[in-house]
Amino acid sequence: MNILFTGILWLLLYLAVVTLPLFLMLVPPVPTGRGFWLELSVAFGFVGLTQIVVQLILTSRFKSLSAPYGIDIILRFHRQIALVAIGFILIHPVLIIVDTPSRVKLLNPLGGTWASKTAWMSLFCLVGLAVTSLFRVRLGLSYERWRLFHLVLAGGAVIFALLHVVMAGLYTNALWKHGVWVLPGVGLILLVLYTRVIKPGFFPDSIWRVAEVRPERGNCVTLVLEADGHAGMKFEPGQFAWVTLGDRKFTMQENPFSIRSSAARPGRLEFGIKKMGDFTNNLPNVKPGTRAVLQGPHGAFSIDRYPAVGYVFIAGGIGVTPLMSFLHTMADRGDPRPVILVYADKTLEDMAFQEELAELEKALDLKVVYVPEKAGEDWQGETGLVTWDILERHVPRDLIHREFFLCGPAPMMASLQKALRAAGVQQDHIHLELFDLV
Ligand SMILES: Cc1cc2nc3c(=O)[nH]c(=O)nc-3n(C[C@H](O)[C@H](O)[C@H](O)COP(=O)(O)OP(=O)(O)OC[C@H]3O[C@@H](n4cnc5c(N)ncnc54)[C@H](O)[C@@H]3O)c2cc1C
Repeated sequence: MNILFTGILWLLLYLAVVTLPLFLMLVPPVPTGRGFWLELSVAFGFVGLTQIVVQLILTSRFKSLSAPYGIDIILRFHRQIALVAIGFILIHPVLIIVDTPSRVKLLNPLGGTWASKTAWMSLFCLVGLAVTSLFRVRLGLSYERWRLFHLVLAGGAVIFALLHVVMAGLYTNALWKHGVWVLPGVGLILLVLYTRVIKPGFFPDSIWRVAEVRPERGNCVTLVLEADGHAGMKFEPGQFAWVTLGDRKFTMQENPFSIRSSAARPGRLEFGIKKMGDFTNNLPNVKPGTRAVLQGPHGAFSIDRYPAVGYVFIAGGIGVTPLMSFLHTMADRGDPRPVILVYADKTLEDMAFQEELAELEKALDLKVVYVPEKAGEDWQGETGLVTWDILERHVPRDLIHREFFLCGPAPMMASLQKALRAAGVQQDHIHLELFDLV
């Protein structure tokens, strides 16, 4: 289906869902004789709140919900649309004051009714959510601490907003109307408990054991996990999982990593990990036998979703990991299709998995083009940043029949995407994976 058409369809569905409670609230009995601005303010509040609830459901990592687009795309959508929702909710009190200026006294968070106090508390949580998410790095918040804040503030925002709707009571003056708000709220709390607490820690098939932690070039390691008493995890090559290490059942530590091994071997998974901070720097100290919990697979960055006569893979640094999974899987399947891998990093010494790639070149119709940013004088190959000039020398002429998979730093992907588009590759043949969810 055309990408624009699919986009419009999803947008219409989204609009239908987020305005549904508003229309249900308009079923009589409804309050009468109120000013236009007041009614408009209530509409903004209802739609904003529904958007927040929908956001929480979408980001709950429920696989059947995120499968078509991948949780990473959904999280990107979440970041953008959450700001729209907060904007809607902020307009709500502004319009109330436009309608009746004397209501400005409601702006005192300590005064007013409980309906206005709960509204204030919800707003406080929402603004906290936006500030900690937009300025996480500048505020010096670690990812784990940010997640804890996010969970608590999001829960608070929804619970206080629902209390506000019920206490304000104007449109919720029938029992079934209370249900429209309270049931999704309770369902949401149960969903979060199930997907974040019960499923990861208690379901036996999410439990794995560390088999090995292997050093690799370029300050990387390979973490090998083996299924503990189950058949493993079925995944599509290129997908990722959230990895938690250690015996604690309740922990905020969970880091996403692309599986870099073959999808044909679901019982033994390998992750190629660059040492970046607290969790990843400690990996060389992790002992074989350590308990691991995996949540996944997630993501839609997979060759299995885009059949083609051949592929072009472009990696920047550790972004090579999902592409390694493509190659290992193709080798295990005896896939004869031609593949070019353009692999860029600072230096040749920084590029992990070169020996494996040499083996894969023997097993597949694969050409690996290494592009170190800087190289010694004896290096005969390409150097510098990957540009269209470099691609043009190696990518076959049948561009439009190929699917392009790119994973690397954001600026590299943006410039290459532009170059590919200029060369005539259609947007729906270019697939991107960014190792950044926040
Ligand atoms: C879909 C996806 C796939 C990834 N695949 C790989 C891979 O195959 N190999 C690899 O080396 N890296 C991968 N990453 C990046 C990896 O998750 C982070 O580098 C790692 O979690 C850093 O953890 P840290 O505590 O050591 O570093 P920190 O210094 O704590 O974090 C460095 C940065 O990594 C990000 N990060 C940290 N913790 C998390 C978390 N729990 N969830 C999301 N982002 C986090 C934050 O942006 C943070 O600023 C992937 C990321 C995503 C989103």
